Order: sequence, then structure tokens, then C-alpha cells
Amino acid sequence: MNKLAKLDRNYVWHPFTQMRDWLRREPIVIVAGKGPVLRDVAGREYLDANSSIWTNLHGHNHPRINAAIRGQLRKIAHSSALGLANEPASLLAEQLIKSVSRSLNGAADHPTALRRPPRVEDPGRLTSAATPLVGESRQPRLNKVFFSDDGSTAVEVALKLAYEFARRSGMSQSPRFLSVQGAYHGDTVGAVSLGHIDLFHKAYRGLLFPTDKVPAPYCYRCPYNRAKPERADARDYRQCRWECLGVLERKFARQKKKGNPYAAFVVEPLIQGAAGMIPQPPGWLSRASAVARDYGALLVADEVMTAFGRTGVNPGGRTDVRPPLFACQREDVVPDFMALAKGLTGGYLAMAATLTTERVFEAFLGEYHEFKTFFHGHSYTGNQLGAAAALASLELLSSPASIRARERLEGALEDELTSLWVNPHVGDIRRVGLIAGIELVQDWRTREPFDLRRRVGIRVCEALARRGVLTRPIGNVIVLMPPYCTTPLQVRCIVKALEAAIPEVLSARRNR
Ligand code: PMP
Repeated sequence: MNKLAKLDRNYVWHPFTQMRDWLRREPIVIVAGKGPVLRDVAGREYLDANSSIWTNLHGHNHPRINAAIRGQLRKIAHSSALGLANEPASLLAEQLIKSVSRSLNGAADHPTALRRPPRVEDPGRLTSAATPLVGESRQPRLNKVFFSDDGSTAVEVALKLAYEFARRSGMSQSPRFLSVQGAYHGDTVGAVSLGHIDLFHKAYRGLLFPTDKVPAPYCYRCPYNRAKPERADARDYRQCRWECLGVLERKFARQKKKGNPYAAFVVEPLIQGAAGMIPQPPGWLSRASAVARDYGALLVADEVMTAFGRTGVNPGGRTDVRPPLFACQREDVVPDFMALAKGLTGGYLAMAATLTTERVFEAFLGEYHEFKTFFHGHSYTGNQLGAAAALASLELLSSPASIRARERLEGALEDELTSLWVNPHVGDIRRVGLIAGIELVQDWRTREPFDLRRRVGIRVCEALARRGVLTRPIGNVIVLMPPYCTTPLQVRCIVKALEAAIPEVLSARRNR
């Protein structure tokens, strides 16, 4: 066994990993990367089909980001944000606010105006009649940035700010949060409290504060979807009356009746990640947000996975607008808090940001002796190397070359993934922009899931690794989310590898 692999086995405890399984085999030790390719210590090459757990945007070893980090390193790597400002963090905060303020129609500033959610194009065959009432809602404007280290801390900051804002503004003395079934917002205790994945979260119940949940619009397994399975994305053939939104509306109404309306609604916009890549049908986000606003709740958008162009290039096929960088922008939703991490630095360094509004900011202003300060912060807050990488990444994202690459990748994913429908174990293929989830089932006609103990997703990913493709499953869902520089040919290789890996694991002979 390679020396580094031995050291890993001797000393390293890996996240979200059953270490007994890990210790049974020699780990892949990555030593280099270039573009979408990772190279291991034995010189084998792999396509990074999940962008190193959803972080990488432009590819590994990108010359522009490398140069930005080297340039910053010549000046300084880090100085504290407690008591000091710094150059790249100030510039980055401005750029983030500018890019998040761009509305769908390309206007530089999102007006603080009364808006209606966009009209819902409704593909469901039963849907025309009943959709929940949503009222007009006032959109806030994001203009402050609080830096931290990763997705969990970005959410934790939003949670604490929302909690304290709700108390100070008189909304509630015991603010209560609502989030979505299957939600995953990180692993710190506050973020776990907002999450609803029993497998991850149940063990820590005693440590958590209670939050409520509403059904996810998981069309493929939705109890309200009357459609029989088809060989298509379940959102496209669903037959429902948006009952999930009705449940959400009633949840808000009931809580209000109790005299303590929800302080905040927390959502992963357009697609829930760790829940199993659960995409929302078009219109769900704007409608759910409008309901939350109607009931006076703050809106927390966890864009840790979805930000920075991941949700695709052309909103509704439009070619006249610059592609939105954030999922919320695709449905013209402006939250009160937006959590950003993962792709913020292009996948280079641990850095995160929580964006919020002047209104929230002002609730923390006061004379020192009033102690209204937001008493929260981390040693590496506003780190210069991370901020320099993030600035370079944002610049790359706005370049025509990057937009073309994303367009190409989106088209390639759309074309190539269709070939998987012939496999009877492929139950659902769902894609939002450059994020795809392929749900494996016993038989597509019944949607019957595999027992998690059979480790079907894990075994398929192991078979993929043997074919030079790296990704991690979420239960029985195979995630494909390659870096933006992945070529159509490389997408074909990834999908071909999956085409071969599924029967290798699930053929009748080896089906146990
Ligand atoms: N929110 C979402 C939507 C995520 O997908 C994740 C990570 N998968 C997190 C929060 C937590 O991010 P991190 O792992 O960087 O703490």
C-alpha cells in the first residue's frame, strides 16, 4: 500500500464515512488536479464528476485563480477582521452585493418594489384550477456581507441574525423557524436544528432546538402526485394541484393562530442538495416565498450549493439576459438572508458569506453600552487569500468564455443523461442547470426504493471510480455536478461509465 494511504488509514477520520468500510480498502490519494481531472498518487486519472463535493467551478489549478492567490500571497495571507478591514474582503463584499442585486432582467439594482411572483407555467395535468393564494410581497434588498468559513457557519450566522432580529423588532420573543422536509443546512448544531434528515440528525436531537417542516416538492415521490411513473423527470408529468403549497400555507396559518407566527422560512432554492437532489417545480420557490412573506416571516435562502451559476445559464431559454448567478434570481425572489460558501472561492479555499439587509443590520446598531453588537465571528473571517480567489472566480463567471462553457455543459448533460432512461433501475433523472441527480430504484414501474443497507449508491460510485469517474451518492441517488470546464466528450464518458456501472452492481446475479 502506498505510504500516504497508510498514513491516512492510521490517522485520518473521514467525514460522512463508515470508517470500518474505509479501512477495508486502499483509499484513492489525490495528488494533483487540472481542469475537471484529478490525479492520484499512482498516476491514475479521474473525472471529478461532483466538483469535489460541489465546490469547484472553473476546474482545478485554474491559472487565473492560482495567479490571484499568488498575487495576494505576496502581500499578506491573513489578518483579522476583528478590528481591521482588508483589501480583498472589502472588494469582494462590493462584488457580491452587485451580483446579487442584479435582477433577472439584467437591471443593476433590484428595486425595492412591490412584486408578484412570476406566473407559474404549470405542466401538471390537474393543476389549472387550484393554486394557493399568494399576495403581493415587498422584496428586501441585500446590502451587507458577513464573512465566515463554510456553509454551516454561513447558515449559522443567518440563523442567529434572524433569531435576534425577530426578537429585537418585536416579531416574536421566542422565534420559531420553518424549513423543508429533507433539508440539510450544515453540521453545526444550529444548522442541524434546521435540518430534517433523520439519518444524519436524529442522534443529536437532545442537542437541538425544535423547528418545524413542510413537505418538499419531491414530485417523484410526492403523495399528491397522481401520475404513474413515466420515463421523464417527474416534474414534467406530475399530476397535482400544488397541494404541497397548500400544506405550507396552512402551516403558516396554524402557527399564526397560535400567536407566534414563524420568524423565518429557510429554504434551499430551486433544488435541495443532500435531501437527494430534489428539484422544485418551476414556480414553487416564488410561491412558497410569497406565502412566507404574506405571513411576515423572514426568508433565509441557503445558496451554499446552488449559487454561482450552478442552476444553469438561461432562465427559461432566454438569450437576452446575463445568466443569473443565484438560484433565487431565477424566480425573482430576494431573501432577507442568503448563505454562500462552497463555490464562493471557485472551490479553492474555505470561505463563506451571509448576505443580509440594511433593516437587519440596523437592528444591531446602538451605543456600545447597549450591547446590541452581533457577538459572533471566526478567526479566519474575511481571509485575504480566500477573498482574492473569490474575486478572481467572480470575474471568471462573468466572462463570455465561462458563460459559453456553462451553456455547453448544460446542453451536454441534457443530451447525454437521456441515454440512462433505458435502464429499468433508473427511476428519475432530475436536473436543474448543471446539477443532476439520478435516482436508482428496484424497478422504475413501481418506484420501489432500495433498502439503504444494500449500499446501492455507494457500490455504483465505487464501480464508477474503477472507470475513472469520481462522485458520491446520496443514498440511492447518484449525483453528477462536474466543473464548468468539463467538455461534452467528458460528460459522455461520465454518463457511459454510469451506464456500465449500474448493471455491474445491479445485474440479477449480483443483485444482493
Ligand atoms: N447548506 C447546503 C445547502 C449544503 O449543501 C451544505 C453542504 N453540503 C451546507 C449547507 C454545509 O456546508 P459546509 O459543508 O461547507 O459546512
